[in-house]
Amino acid sequence: MPIEEKIPVVQSATTLRSKQLGVRHGFSTRLGGVSEGPFASLNLGPNVGDEPERVEQNGRIFARAQGLSPGQLVSVRQVHGTHFLEVGAASCADRVPAPVGEADGLYTRERGVALCIRTADCVPLLLWAPDQGAIAAVHAGWRGALAAIARRAVEHLSEHYGAAPHSIKAAIGPSIRSCCYEVKNDLAMEFERRFGEGVASRALEGSPRLDIAEANRRALLEAGVLPEGIDVVQSCTACDSARFFSHRRDRGRTGRHLSFLVL
Ligand SMILES: [Zn+2]
Repeated sequence: MPIEEKIPVVQSATTLRSKQLGVRHGFSTRLGGVSEGPFASLNLGPNVGDEPERVEQNGRIFARAQGLSPGQLVSVRQVHGTHFLEVGAASCADRVPAPVGEADGLYTRERGVALCIRTADCVPLLLWAPDQGAIAAVHAGWRGALAAIARRAVEHLSEHYGAAPHSIKAAIGPSIRSCCYEVKNDLAMEFERRFGEGVASRALEGSPRLDIAEANRRALLEAGVLPEGIDVVQSCTACDSARFFSHRRDRGRTGRHLSFLVL
Protein backbone atom coordinates (compact mmCIF):
# COMPACT_ATOMS: atom_id res chain seq x y z
CA MET A 1 0.00 0.00 0.00
CA PRO A 2 1.45 3.40 -0.90
CA ILE A 3 2.25 5.29 2.28
CA GLU A 4 0.31 8.32 1.04
CA GLU A 5 -2.84 6.39 1.88
CA LYS A 6 -2.11 6.33 5.60
CA ILE A 7 -2.92 9.67 7.13
CA PRO A 8 -4.61 9.00 10.47
CA VAL A 9 -2.95 12.00 12.07
CA VAL A 10 -4.75 14.74 13.94
CA GLN A 11 -3.19 18.16 14.16
CA SER A 12 -3.51 20.52 17.10
CA ALA A 13 -2.08 24.01 17.40
CA THR A 14 1.51 23.05 18.10
CA THR A 15 1.68 19.29 18.24
CA LEU A 16 1.00 16.48 15.79
CA ARG A 17 -0.47 13.23 17.06
CA SER A 18 -1.15 9.77 15.73
CA LYS A 19 -4.29 7.73 16.27
CA GLN A 20 -2.13 4.60 16.52
CA LEU A 21 -0.80 5.47 19.93
CA GLY A 22 -3.16 4.99 22.85
CA VAL A 23 -0.80 6.75 25.23
CA ARG A 24 -0.02 10.43 25.65
CA HIS A 25 2.43 11.47 22.93
CA GLY A 26 3.19 14.15 20.36
CA PHE A 27 5.48 15.49 17.68
CA SER A 28 6.21 19.15 18.28
CA THR A 29 6.12 21.71 15.48
CA ARG A 30 8.04 24.99 15.58
CA LEU A 31 4.91 26.91 16.60
CA GLY A 32 4.13 28.39 19.98
CA GLY A 33 7.52 29.12 21.56
CA VAL A 34 9.61 32.15 22.51
CA SER A 35 12.80 31.73 20.46
CA GLU A 36 13.64 34.09 17.62
CA GLY A 37 15.40 34.16 14.25
CA PRO A 38 16.33 30.74 12.89
CA PHE A 39 15.08 29.18 16.14
CA ALA A 40 11.61 30.75 16.00
CA SER A 41 9.82 29.81 17.85
CA LEU A 42 9.49 26.52 19.74
CA ASN A 43 13.12 25.39 19.63
CA LEU A 44 13.47 22.46 22.01
CA GLY A 45 17.12 21.71 21.31
CA PRO A 46 19.86 22.98 23.62
CA ASN A 47 23.35 23.51 22.18
CA VAL A 48 22.24 24.55 18.70
CA GLY A 49 23.12 28.26 19.10
CA ASP A 50 19.89 29.48 20.67
CA GLU A 51 19.73 31.30 24.01
CA PRO A 52 19.56 28.69 26.81
CA GLU A 53 16.91 30.66 28.74
CA ARG A 54 14.59 30.61 25.75
CA VAL A 55 15.14 26.91 25.17
CA GLU A 56 14.35 26.28 28.82
CA GLN A 57 11.20 28.34 28.62
CA ASN A 58 10.16 26.49 25.47
CA GLY A 59 10.61 23.25 27.40
CA ARG A 60 8.23 24.52 30.07
CA ILE A 61 5.71 25.72 27.46
CA PHE A 62 5.79 22.42 25.62
CA ALA A 63 5.59 20.29 28.77
CA ARG A 64 2.65 22.28 30.10
CA ALA A 65 0.80 21.98 26.79
CA GLN A 66 1.17 18.20 27.05
CA GLY A 67 0.08 18.03 30.67
CA LEU A 68 3.58 17.10 31.80
CA SER A 69 6.17 18.67 34.06
CA PRO A 70 9.43 19.68 32.31
CA GLY A 71 11.32 17.26 34.56
CA GLN A 72 9.53 14.30 32.96
CA LEU A 73 11.10 14.97 29.53
CA VAL A 74 13.90 12.38 29.46
CA SER A 75 16.23 12.38 26.46
CA VAL A 76 19.62 11.08 25.32
CA ARG A 77 22.62 12.52 23.48
CA GLN A 78 21.82 11.24 20.00
CA VAL A 79 24.85 9.99 18.09
CA HIS A 80 23.44 8.32 14.93
CA GLY A 81 24.10 4.87 16.36
CA THR A 82 21.81 1.99 17.25
CA HIS A 83 22.29 1.84 21.02
CA PHE A 84 19.26 1.88 23.36
CA LEU A 85 18.94 2.92 26.99
CA GLU A 86 16.30 1.75 29.40
CA VAL A 87 15.19 4.70 31.53
CA GLY A 88 12.99 5.09 34.57
CA ALA A 89 11.66 7.61 37.04
CA ALA A 90 15.16 8.08 38.45
CA SER A 91 16.03 9.97 35.25
CA CYS A 92 13.32 12.58 35.85
CA ALA A 93 14.25 15.89 37.49
CA ASP A 94 12.90 19.25 38.66
CA ARG A 95 13.48 20.84 35.26
CA VAL A 96 14.16 19.38 31.80
CA PRO A 97 16.78 16.73 32.68
CA ALA A 98 20.18 16.64 31.02
CA PRO A 99 20.48 13.79 28.49
CA VAL A 100 20.87 10.50 30.36
CA GLY A 101 23.61 9.13 28.11
CA GLU A 102 24.61 8.50 24.50
CA ALA A 103 22.06 6.52 22.55
CA ASP A 104 19.50 6.79 19.75
CA GLY A 105 16.70 4.92 21.40
CA LEU A 106 15.01 4.82 24.80
CA TYR A 107 12.54 2.38 26.27
CA THR A 108 10.63 1.95 29.50
CA ARG A 109 7.57 0.53 31.12
CA GLU A 110 7.57 2.95 34.01
CA ARG A 111 4.73 5.40 34.18
CA GLY A 112 5.38 9.13 34.04
CA VAL A 113 8.69 8.92 32.15
CA ALA A 114 8.33 10.82 28.87
CA LEU A 115 10.73 9.37 26.31
CA CYS A 116 11.98 12.21 24.09
CA ILE A 117 13.73 12.40 20.74
CA ARG A 118 15.07 15.59 19.15
CA THR A 119 15.09 16.02 15.38
CA ALA A 120 15.23 18.55 12.55
CA ASP A 121 14.88 16.31 9.42
CA CYS A 122 15.75 12.91 10.91
CA VAL A 123 12.91 10.50 11.65
CA PRO A 124 11.41 10.41 15.14
CA LEU A 125 9.77 7.09 15.78
CA LEU A 126 7.43 6.30 18.68
CA LEU A 127 6.41 2.75 19.62
CA TRP A 128 3.79 1.44 22.02
CA ALA A 129 3.36 -2.16 23.11
CA PRO A 130 -0.17 -2.18 24.55
CA ASP A 131 0.01 -5.86 25.59
CA GLN A 132 2.91 -5.24 27.97
CA GLY A 133 2.42 -1.55 28.75
CA ALA A 134 5.80 -0.57 27.33
CA ILE A 135 7.06 2.20 25.06
CA ALA A 136 10.13 3.14 23.03
CA ALA A 137 11.31 6.26 21.20
CA VAL A 138 13.86 6.26 18.41
CA HIS A 139 16.01 8.75 16.50
CA ALA A 140 16.61 7.53 12.95
CA GLY A 141 18.63 9.57 10.52
CA TRP A 142 19.95 7.83 7.45
CA ARG A 143 22.60 5.95 9.42
CA GLY A 144 20.10 4.67 11.94
CA ALA A 145 17.57 3.89 9.23
CA LEU A 146 20.12 1.94 7.20
CA ALA A 147 21.10 0.00 10.33
CA ALA A 148 17.38 -0.77 10.85
CA ILE A 149 17.26 0.86 14.27
CA ALA A 150 13.45 0.67 14.05
CA ARG A 151 13.71 -3.11 13.97
CA ARG A 152 15.97 -3.04 17.02
CA ALA A 153 13.39 -0.99 18.89
CA VAL A 154 10.81 -3.72 18.34
CA GLU A 155 13.35 -6.33 19.41
CA HIS A 156 14.06 -4.42 22.62
CA LEU A 157 10.38 -4.25 23.54
CA SER A 158 10.04 -7.90 22.69
CA GLU A 159 13.19 -9.23 24.42
CA HIS A 160 13.08 -7.08 27.55
CA TYR A 161 9.36 -6.93 28.17
CA GLY A 162 7.86 -9.81 26.21
CA ALA A 163 5.88 -7.62 23.82
CA ALA A 164 4.49 -9.42 20.77
CA PRO A 165 5.75 -7.59 17.64
CA HIS A 166 2.37 -7.92 15.88
CA SER A 167 0.72 -6.06 18.76
CA ILE A 168 3.12 -3.10 18.68
CA LYS A 169 1.82 0.21 17.34
CA ALA A 170 4.20 2.70 15.77
CA ALA A 171 4.10 6.30 14.59
CA ILE A 172 6.72 7.68 12.25
CA GLY A 173 6.94 11.43 12.80
CA PRO A 174 7.63 14.36 10.49
CA SER A 175 10.97 14.16 8.70
CA ILE A 176 12.59 15.24 5.47
CA ARG A 177 10.94 13.26 2.68
CA SER A 178 11.90 12.17 -0.80
CA CYS A 179 10.66 15.47 -2.28
CA CYS A 180 13.66 17.20 -0.65
CA TYR A 181 16.18 14.57 0.41
CA GLU A 182 18.76 14.31 -2.36
CA VAL A 183 21.52 11.80 -1.66
CA LYS A 184 24.52 10.32 -3.45
CA ASN A 185 23.78 7.42 -5.76
CA ASP A 186 25.88 5.00 -3.65
CA LEU A 187 23.76 5.69 -0.60
CA ALA A 188 20.50 5.32 -2.53
CA MET A 189 21.73 1.96 -3.82
CA GLU A 190 22.68 0.82 -0.33
CA PHE A 191 19.16 1.57 0.86
CA GLU A 192 17.65 -0.24 -2.12
CA ARG A 193 19.83 -3.29 -1.45
CA ARG A 194 18.79 -3.29 2.20
CA PHE A 195 15.08 -2.42 1.93
CA GLY A 196 14.11 -3.06 -1.69
CA GLU A 197 12.85 -0.84 -4.48
CA GLY A 198 10.87 2.25 -3.64
CA VAL A 199 12.96 3.62 -0.77
CA ALA A 200 14.79 5.82 -3.28
CA SER A 201 13.50 7.56 -6.37
CA ARG A 202 15.30 8.90 -9.40
CA ALA A 203 14.42 11.78 -11.69
CA LEU A 204 15.91 11.95 -15.19
CA GLU A 205 18.37 14.54 -13.93
CA GLY A 206 19.87 15.26 -10.56
CA SER A 207 20.63 13.07 -7.58
CA PRO A 208 18.44 10.25 -6.29
CA ARG A 209 16.07 11.05 -3.46
CA LEU A 210 15.73 9.00 -0.33
CA ASP A 211 12.58 8.22 1.63
CA ILE A 212 13.92 7.45 5.12
CA ALA A 213 10.41 7.32 6.58
CA GLU A 214 9.62 4.45 4.22
CA ALA A 215 12.90 2.70 5.07
CA ASN A 216 11.93 2.86 8.75
CA ARG A 217 8.46 1.58 7.97
CA ARG A 218 9.93 -1.42 6.16
CA ALA A 219 12.27 -2.11 9.09
CA LEU A 220 9.22 -2.19 11.38
CA LEU A 221 7.45 -4.62 9.04
CA GLU A 222 10.54 -6.86 9.00
CA ALA A 223 10.40 -6.92 12.79
CA GLY A 224 6.82 -8.19 12.69
CA VAL A 225 4.81 -5.01 13.22
CA LEU A 226 1.63 -5.14 11.15
CA PRO A 227 1.16 -2.62 8.32
CA GLU A 228 -2.10 -1.45 9.87
CA GLY A 229 -0.23 -0.78 13.12
CA ILE A 230 2.01 1.86 11.57
CA ASP A 231 1.27 5.53 10.92
CA VAL A 232 3.45 7.73 8.79
CA VAL A 233 2.98 11.45 9.41
CA GLN A 234 2.81 12.87 5.91
CA SER A 235 4.78 16.04 6.45
CA CYS A 236 8.13 17.04 4.98
CA THR A 237 10.20 19.14 7.38
CA ALA A 238 12.16 20.71 4.52
CA CYS A 239 9.08 21.69 2.46
CA ASP A 240 7.10 23.24 5.27
CA SER A 241 9.14 26.09 6.78
CA ALA A 242 6.08 27.52 8.52
CA ARG A 243 5.70 24.44 10.72
CA PHE A 244 9.10 22.74 10.83
CA PHE A 245 12.77 23.26 11.43
CA SER A 246 14.96 21.64 8.77
CA HIS A 247 18.66 21.06 9.19
CA ARG A 248 19.20 20.72 5.47
CA ARG A 249 16.99 23.59 4.31
CA ASP A 250 18.36 25.95 6.96
CA ARG A 251 21.97 24.85 6.43
CA GLY A 252 22.47 23.62 9.97
CA ARG A 253 21.35 26.79 11.75
CA THR A 254 17.94 25.83 13.02
CA GLY A 255 15.98 24.57 16.01
CA ARG A 256 14.98 21.08 17.09
CA HIS A 257 11.62 19.41 17.46
CA LEU A 258 10.79 17.18 20.37
CA SER A 259 8.83 13.98 19.94
CA PHE A 260 7.68 12.17 23.07
CA LEU A 261 5.47 9.48 24.48
CA VAL A 262 4.69 8.58 28.07
CA LEU A 263 2.80 5.87 29.93
ZN1 LIG B 1 9.97 18.16 0.90
